[in-house]
Amino acid sequence: MKREFQQSLLDKGLERLPNVLIAAAECAPISKTGGLADVVGTLPKSLAELGMDARVITPYHRCVKDKYRDRVEHMFSFSVDLGWRSQYVGIERLVLDGVTIYLVDNEYYFGDKIYRGGQAEGEQYAFFTRAVLDAIPNLGFFPDVLHCNDWHTAMLPMLLRTQYGYYVHGRIKTLLTIHNIFYQGKFGFDFFRDLLRVEDRYFTPEFMEINGCAAFLKAGCVFADRLSTVSPSYADELCTPYFGEGLDGILSARRHQLTGILNGIDKKVFNPYSDPLIAKRFDKGHLKGKQTCKESLMFEMGLQAGPRTPLVAMVARMTDQKGFDLVERVLDELLDEQDMCFLLLGSGDKSYEGFMQEAENRHRGRVCAYIGYNEELSHRVYAGADLLLMPSKFEPCGLSQMIAMRYGTLPIVRETGGLRDSVVPYNQYTGEGTGFSFANYNAHEMKATIERALQVYRDEPENWNRLVRNAMAADFGFERSAEGYARLYIDLL
Ligand code: ADP
Repeated sequence: MKREFQQSLLDKGLERLPNVLIAAAECAPISKTGGLADVVGTLPKSLAELGMDARVITPYHRCVKDKYRDRVEHMFSFSVDLGWRSQYVGIERLVLDGVTIYLVDNEYYFGDKIYRGGQAEGEQYAFFTRAVLDAIPNLGFFPDVLHCNDWHTAMLPMLLRTQYGYYVHGRIKTLLTIHNIFYQGKFGFDFFRDLLRVEDRYFTPEFMEINGCAAFLKAGCVFADRLSTVSPSYADELCTPYFGEGLDGILSARRHQLTGILNGIDKKVFNPYSDPLIAKRFDKGHLKGKQTCKESLMFEMGLQAGPRTPLVAMVARMTDQKGFDLVERVLDELLDEQDMCFLLLGSGDKSYEGFMQEAENRHRGRVCAYIGYNEELSHRVYAGADLLLMPSKFEPCGLSQMIAMRYGTLPIVRETGGLRDSVVPYNQYTGEGTGFSFANYNAHEMKATIERALQVYRDEPENWNRLVRNAMAADFGFERSAEGYARLYIDLL
């Protein structure tokens, strides 16, 4: 155990590190739609290295059943009341890489998509909330800290305090991590009254009410013992009306209990020196392999350009958040004026997907739009691209830019949230930096920054190589993040 943690335990008169149960809607590698899954998957492994017993509880989604059914062990079952329905809960156990994952089984709620959208999604996770709370006493693992993540699990602290306080649960401390405040799980108050037996007195702005609705996330912000988010800058931003999405009031009031911990990436999974998914391995001392990865990627994706033509890539969910409206505005101009190729790996909003497919048709051989989710291809994109574009409107942390840097692909980012905290902008006077950045959410400011990056690639090879080496040397390992969480857990006791 690290001396720092030993000392904290001694100071608090505790004999052991806290047991932690991490509740989340998704957990990599078994179920994943975005960065939340990566954090939930990596955190318990890194905490184990610090000597902490952290386990995960997550739905037994269809995708998990299809792939892991043979490795899952049934523990026990019971039923819960959800409104007028009595619902089956199966608790299954899966041990993966030494981490225990409890899976909440119910075919009706989790037999299909991870997120069903709308009211149906609210019901999925209201069910999950009730199932987790009722399962805890029988898991054979009693958590000192229940670590909730995003709106899907944000009702846990409230129900724990208001409905389970007299049970063993009363001892459990709660931490809510906000990975993305944009999604809050807002429904009419009747929904909460009917499904989760929430009393009417909680339908006020001090508790759950927000713009005439009630929100899972607001309940979490009010009732969790501690709050955290995924980068120091996003913690500051959340307390402002522009970023706070209506929760800036409660978050400002609790600013002293809100900590920003920058996420990290799994350095073993994302390692250009050992990655079996890329065409040729490389490291910062031997960058030749990166050029091979680029040529192989361009061939695979049908991009026809010389080896010295810079390749700009995006790997992202195609939502408004990720800055696709800026890309739409200037992509044609850029391609008309610059020698470059553009590769997109993503899916989401149909209008952005359509735009990218049309751009591919207009610029055959110079633009490739791969619409879909493809984990293996993403490794090849990170390894083969020269630049990764991430012009987000807001970005709680962002993992893509960190993965890109690990593979020597320089990020071009907007200075917001975790992008600001992880990318050091190129300084032409000192040669320092790990990427390029711009401040305002403006298409032509982004375009000028891309042009600047292309110019360094083309005309300043020495500076370019230095930036690539700097980026690859930056340490975004999850160990640092895990220590931040460990400190918070201990602090909570
Ligand atoms: P967010 O969580 O907002 O989607 P992050 O940058 O934090 O954004 O995490 C996104 C993660 O999902 C990264 O690991 C990225 O590589 C991966 N990803 C996003 N879109 C795709 C895709 N279409 N195919 C494969 N991986 C993707």
